[in-house]
Amino acid sequence: MKEFPALSVAHVADPDLLAAAVDEFSPTAIESCESDIRVFFATPADRDAACAALAASFDITAIDVPDEDWARRTQENLEPITVGRIIVASPWAAANLQPSALSPQPSAILIVVAPSMGFGTGHHATTRLCLAALQAIDVTGQVVLDVGTGSGVLAIAAERLGATHATGIDNDPDAIQSARENLEVNPAARRVTFAFGDLTACPERSRIAPQETDGARGFQPSETGSPERLALQLRSGQADVVTANLTGGLLVRSASALLATVRAGGTLILSGLLAHERDEVCRAFAPAAVVWEQEEDGWVGLAMKKP
Ligand code: SAH
Repeated sequence: MKEFPALSVAHVADPDLLAAAVDEFSPTAIESCESDIRVFFATPADRDAACAALAASFDITAIDVPDEDWARRTQENLEPITVGRIIVASPWAAANLQPSALSPQPSAILIVVAPSMGFGTGHHATTRLCLAALQAIDVTGQVVLDVGTGSGVLAIAAERLGATHATGIDNDPDAIQSARENLEVNPAARRVTFAFGDLTACPERSRIAPQETDGARGFQPSETGSPERLALQLRSGQADVVTANLTGGLLVRSASALLATVRAGGTLILSGLLAHERDEVCRAFAPAAVVWEQEEDGWVGLAMKKP
């Protein structure tokens, strides 16, 4: 969560005097609370300078005030984005979306992403590259695993594009909570599940053969998200398609773990890598071969087919 650097000043006899004293340190706001006055600054350095200078004259404590509303305020004004058939919009933008925005594309799919701490509003090039890749390959009838799901946008998109089931995992509990909240605002996405899980906690050796004993394909993410269950999901090579919008470094380090999650003949959609990391990522995922590639703002999206 974003935090504001601030000073909490107690027992203030004369608020005007305090305002005059902090003025030279360029405070961004001064707020009267029940038991103190809070002075906010643009940077911790500004705050610390003010704190050092005023400590002798005031009853002062440096604090970091969590901005619980930060996600909402930064994201509610975001414009909807369109990638192929997919439109990603905030609940406010979705409510105001004119039918004409959808009608030129009768097959348009609207995905609502509520502001949250989970990355993935569609406003980053890497998310858009993954959304493009999901449409470049055919996900109809496929089982999809989204590693590092953030807001859940890719898992929801995969399902809306026709996947039989999509599971999103993330090692950030806040992301999993936001992803689950996003399911509530996307009631059309019925075959999507989210579970806590850490890609790097997955042992890379001793791969488990695909488990299709009951004929039902698809991941069974545990509600508790136990590491054992996750390792099973990650290593069992059940996914037809795996999406991983991470970083170049993490993709390289986790290449064998990610390759093990996808069945032979399945596809990995990778992004989060920069153009200069592209060759190293491709080498790490060999013998999987690039079947689709796109670049935007220096970021690369790849679809690689596992032989
Ligand atoms: N899939 C979304 C979000 C990508 S951001 C989109 O495309 O927009 C990357 C996400 O990966 C973050 O939510 C981060 O918490 C998650 N992540 C980073 N390292 C991880 C790991 N080791 N295991 C699982 N998730 C991870």
